[in-house]
Amino acid sequence: CGIVGYAGGRPALGIVLDGLRRLEYRGYDSAGVAIVCADELLTEKRAGKLANLEKVLGERAEADPTDVDCGASTLGIGDGTTGIGHTRWATHGGPTDRNAHPHLGPDGKVAVIHNGIIENFGRLRAELEADGATFVSDTDSECAAHLLTAVLAKLRAAGEPDGPRLLASAMRQVCQRLEGAFTLLAVDARVPGAVVGARRNSPLVVGRGDGENYLASDVSAFIEHTRDAVELGQDQIVLITADTIEITDFDGQPADGKDFHIDWDA
Ligand code: GLU
Repeated sequence: CGIVGYAGGRPALGIVLDGLRRLEYRGYDSAGVAIVCADELLTEKRAGKLANLEKVLGERAEADPTDVDCGASTLGIGDGTTGIGHTRWATHGGPTDRNAHPHLGPDGKVAVIHNGIIENFGRLRAELEADGATFVSDTDSECAAHLLTAVLAKLRAAGEPDGPRLLASAMRQVCQRLEGAFTLLAVDARVPGAVVGARRNSPLVVGRGDGENYLASDVSAFIEHTRDAVELGQDQIVLITADTIEITDFDGQPADGKDFHIDWDA
């Protein structure tokens, strides 16, 4: 029931976990993070309170203080500077570790988090399974991770230039297939430094920082870092990197969000 994304120059994990803590009031039954670090995707997710997730991140740090090559943070998931985090309010599939988000595509390089309900997930899942996909959760959300991975593979195979815009254009294609209500965020380990978001009938705001940008369900997640925000309209895609925010509609046409300044205390 809460979503946070970060792209910038600071270690993402602490920022994402803090953001999730600020969204706890929305209620949740599970939590998870995906951090892109030196072209690797590092994920952890747990049913229950954020403390459960933090405990396992701490254990991971103890087991291997370096965790990945790019240097250990206190929590040991490395100091990757791109990340997404999720708190879940289960609608499809019980509140278990397996059903917690992020959900990964079959190549393990793409992570997706989702708030809302994908109403046509049954049909999409059947179609993906017929193409050989194996699902590991009972959620409606996992089909978005499979779809995004498949679209990215198709675009790459067609020779589309890799990079943040490829991620955005793949997300657009995925959204055109989804019915229901969703806020989606995704990262691809092959596109370090970028987070793509999408919204339909579910909230998503952008926080405009200095050399860093944020995505969240509401401003309380990033208000301690920036008070410059952009509210996305319906059916919009937003791509953030440390220095850029690009908003388009689901057809790829440039679109405007609504800029606002947060002059209240969230
Ligand atoms: N429908 C998704 C699930 O059950 C997302 C729920 C949410 O909004 O947190 O996993």
